[in-house]
Amino acid sequence: MASPRSCASLQGVASLVTLEQVPQLEEVAALNAAALEALDVWQARPGEILTVVDPQQTAYRARIVSLDPEKACCVPFERLTAAVESPLQVAVYQALPDKERFELVLQKLTEIGVSRIGPMESQRSTTLGERDTLQKKSHRWPDVLRRAARQCRRAVLPELLPIRSFADTLLTAEQAELKLMLYEGETSWSFCEAFGSLRPQSVALLVGPEGGFTGAEIEQARDLGFVPVSLGPRILRTETAAIVAAALVQSYFGDLR
Ligand code: SAH
Repeated sequence: MASPRSCASLQGVASLVTLEQVPQLEEVAALNAAALEALDVWQARPGEILTVVDPQQTAYRARIVSLDPEKACCVPFERLTAAVESPLQVAVYQALPDKERFELVLQKLTEIGVSRIGPMESQRSTTLGERDTLQKKSHRWPDVLRRAARQCRRAVLPELLPIRSFADTLLTAEQAELKLMLYEGETSWSFCEAFGSLRPQSVALLVGPEGGFTGAEIEQARDLGFVPVSLGPRILRTETAAIVAAALVQSYFGDLR
């Protein structure tokens, strides 16, 4: 059984399956050497259909026809007219919710096209220990992502980070061009006010636990340049907040239109 800390083996771009050359549709095409590792990340088997790209980054639907230790081949049968991966890098850092809600977040954020998901422990969140004692199977998370990514035809699996503390998460998230903290308090900016004229290529979203962020956490994040933003007058469940915010930034700056 994979430990939850090894979830990080799902490494975003490393999961991109690339053809050696621009293919002819319906003809057997070789995949490049790095594709073997990527196919492993997808846990692909012969007969399975995946989204692959050629060296010019054009995407195809393709059936894997052979998978040897040295070489893999597929038959591309459909050229996709639009890129399946968003030009916007969206990273969502989510305080660990209880019950099965994190699985829902993983599935929906994958469909929305986020590039990274980072579970975190904040002061009022549950901890992984509490969850797993209650039989919430965190070792299933990579599988949830794989299934969602296959279903929505993504070419890349979102990167799933190991669970980090709030402080470590802030440091990881700090590099994004636009850093938003979802906060239901009165001192929040409205969601689009916070963008100003910025047209970012990367966005980090911090989503609090069921009990919300503490005042100290909000200050800590503000000190590192995170802007507290509101998602309107209703209090959303943590998983709804993550999904809505990811969809909004994908719509403003990405490919959800
Ligand atoms: N502190 C609240 C609920 C927290 S809701 C209470 O117990 O009453 C869980 C998380 O979802 C919050 O930490 C926040 O990150 C996000 N969230 C929910 N509704 C929101 C809203 N209207 N605006 C911004 N963020 C919201």
